[in-house]
Amino acid sequence: MALAHSLGFPRIGRDRELKKALEAYWKGELDEAGLRAVGRQLRADHWQLQQDAGIELLPVGDFAWYDQVLSHSLMFGVVPERFRTAEGRVTLDTLFAMARGVSGACCGNAGTQAQEMTKWFDSNYHYLVPEFSRDQQFRLSWEQLFEEVAEARALGHAVKPVLIGPLTYLWLGKVRGAAAETEGFDKLELLERLLPVYGEVLGRLAALGVEWVQIDEPILGLDLPAEWKNAFERAYNLLQQPLPKKLLTTYFAGLEDNLGLAANLPVDGLHIDLVRAPEQYPTILDRLPAYKVLSLGVVNGRNVWRCDLEQALDVLRHAHERLGARLWVAPSCSLLHSPVDLEREDQLDDELQGWLAFAVQKCAEVATLARALNQPDAPEVQAARAASRAVQQARARSPRIHNPHVQQRLAAVTPADSRRASPFAARIAQQRARLDLPAFPTTTIGSFPQTAAIRLARQAYRLGKLSETDYVEAMQAEIRHALSVQEKLGLDVLVHGEAERNDMVEYFAEQLDGYAFTRFGWVQSYGSRCVKPAVIVGDLSRPQAMTVAWSRYAQSLTDKPMKGMLTGPVTMLMWSFPREDVSREVQARQLALAIRDEVADLEAAGIGIVQIDEAAFREGLPLRRAAWQHYLDWAVDAFRLCSSGVADATQIHTHMCYSEFNDVIEAIAAMDADVITIETSRSQMELLEAFEAFEYPNEIGPGVYDIHSPRVPSVAEMVALIEKAAERIPAERLWVNPDCGLKTRGWPETLAALGNMVAAARQLRDKA
Ligand code: GLN
Ligand code: ZN
Repeated sequence: MALAHSLGFPRIGRDRELKKALEAYWKGELDEAGLRAVGRQLRADHWQLQQDAGIELLPVGDFAWYDQVLSHSLMFGVVPERFRTAEGRVTLDTLFAMARGVSGACCGNAGTQAQEMTKWFDSNYHYLVPEFSRDQQFRLSWEQLFEEVAEARALGHAVKPVLIGPLTYLWLGKVRGAAAETEGFDKLELLERLLPVYGEVLGRLAALGVEWVQIDEPILGLDLPAEWKNAFERAYNLLQQPLPKKLLTTYFAGLEDNLGLAANLPVDGLHIDLVRAPEQYPTILDRLPAYKVLSLGVVNGRNVWRCDLEQALDVLRHAHERLGARLWVAPSCSLLHSPVDLEREDQLDDELQGWLAFAVQKCAEVATLARALNQPDAPEVQAARAASRAVQQARARSPRIHNPHVQQRLAAVTPADSRRASPFAARIAQQRARLDLPAFPTTTIGSFPQTAAIRLARQAYRLGKLSETDYVEAMQAEIRHALSVQEKLGLDVLVHGEAERNDMVEYFAEQLDGYAFTRFGWVQSYGSRCVKPAVIVGDLSRPQAMTVAWSRYAQSLTDKPMKGMLTGPVTMLMWSFPREDVSREVQARQLALAIRDEVADLEAAGIGIVQIDEAAFREGLPLRRAAWQHYLDWAVDAFRLCSSGVADATQIHTHMCYSEFNDVIEAIAAMDADVITIETSRSQMELLEAFEAFEYPNEIGPGVYDIHSPRVPSVAEMVALIEKAAERIPAERLWVNPDCGLKTRGWPETLAALGNMVAAARQLRDKA
């Protein structure tokens, strides 16, 4: 009998109950007992939902108060010194302090800085980076996992606790401490000290009568250094014991060169992600020892589409013949990355509703697939398969998906469409003549503070409480305000301020054909924060201009150059749920053509500078190096396709809010934006090194102040930073701007910081 199991369930709740409870607790409106009760209820509900859907082994340990990596840090006693209290007790408040920091009271207390947060592999989930010291000791310090196992047991469930494996846990962490202390220290040296705690955890679980544990080692999908590969064997040899049995799980990428290693570790089963890396099957069958369970992840845990059951069954049936009861059926990865329950949606049309599946529905799909192997003739199985076939057929033919105009236009694109008319040197000469900007031109990244008034107006308009005319007038008033501020400050290239935008992707998605929106499709991003990505349903196109009226209005108020503001194709794609029936590349190109039209319309409206933000450009990089070039090729081309339709004298900017460019600098240069603005202030301009070494030819605006904090840097500080930048990039190619948009800031610090920024640029001009 093939078994249906799941790797993890979203913890946030179908109505984001956990988010609400956490935020109430942080505000002091809910006490700890209240918060714990909400958590307990969510866990009980989620186990029940999964069980009702037909999942036979339920995950435990997938619930976390903030983040599952952080839970492991607590479990292993990896609590940095600064979060330790005098009594040394680790509490829920220790956990939240590590996650969120503690703000300083008054009087010289600097507060306690939170742990660093970063992206979980190539997903949009963020985890808290474990902080190790060189002399790190590990000690079982947090009972949550055992308590939750007992809790699930008490509810009568068959459970499979979920652990992050020791190698992945170490890989995700960072050694902190004084340079002298950490230099030359390899965190892999901590493994020997860490393993006994894993042994202890497994022993405790065995004592609780747990038969199987799931051990996640997603780093097996990465390019691993030889020492790490060797460490896998060592570690799992040491962790050998008869019970609990171990299912080693890998996801987000194929095992490739790690396949033999993963297949042969002394564990009892292996899970592979066949959604991301279908080519792993059937190769895996030849490599897997005959005693092991093989779990096949065939239901996509990272997207919202209903599974094509027939396609999944083709593989599963073959595997079942070979493996029998040793075959397990699963989602590709934890369902943490899926919205919770499609049943919650009350405003989707029937057609679209029929195409989608969220976590609850995905569990049912997994169960149906297992059942289809075990009892192929069961009427429910027959009905589910017939429904799946009908959906796939209807979708394949639906005009909602296929837009012949878009497809024809895409087919007619030629390489020339992705090339500006002239090389940069010729373009910049024309742009300089047209724009007549001073040295060290000053600008901002686009957004100004999104005040409560702006949000209220937008909300009222959405709810129909504010008429279109009144809404437009309210937004125009914001534009007038943003412009008068910028003129008074003396900025050189102005922006309209983006008051009308809720979000840099959703705003455009709502105006494109081919997108759909859910009401409750929330996915945890970090802690209590959730995102609700738009869904790319079909071929994408732009029925009409999206931003031109606002930019034209703004330009009419000033003689200074106005910068139009768009989101680029790669970022649009990366922050949406994509289609699965066409490649990412095709979707990016469709988006690029839509944006290209907008760029052309802005140009025609007299806007001489257009910025196309690609905040998510780097995020799109595949996990394996060997796949990078293919991605970079199409991603760069998508940007060029959207930006190359303009005259030489029209200046194209792009913006990326990070600064690791070393390994992608060639691609960044190939994008051929006339100006790129990047985040650099916190790194003291050191991150311009990549641009210097590459002899990056175009203009650059390295951020001169960090917008993530309300701190107002002094004029002298910014002068010093720009001078540092000028050591690496010729001064005539430097722009002066903040690190990113200002939407999360308040007006007072924005005015003060921009005032100092303009003064800094002026000082430098005077010096020159
Ligand atoms: N133009 C956007 C803004 O200023 C850019 C945001 C971003 O890069 N994340 O808000
Ligand atoms: Zn940014």
